[in-house]
Amino acid sequence: MRSISGTAATKAYRCPGCDQEIPPGTPHVVAWPADEPEGTVERRHWHTRCWQRRR
Ligand SMILES: [Zn+2]
Repeated sequence: MRSISGTAATKAYRCPGCDQEIPPGTPHVVAWPADEPEGTVERRHWHTRCWQRRR
């Protein structure tokens, strides 16, 4: 997976790690499969803490 950190969201996303919402304006991690070019698949939005625990 590739990821971008520190993205400030303008809307709420649901984190797949904990199934809780990430409130707008919260810096978080955006991830997508490394074998897919950016933009061709849906990105996943994770809480930074949930992303780190995932590994
Ligand atoms: Zn989470």
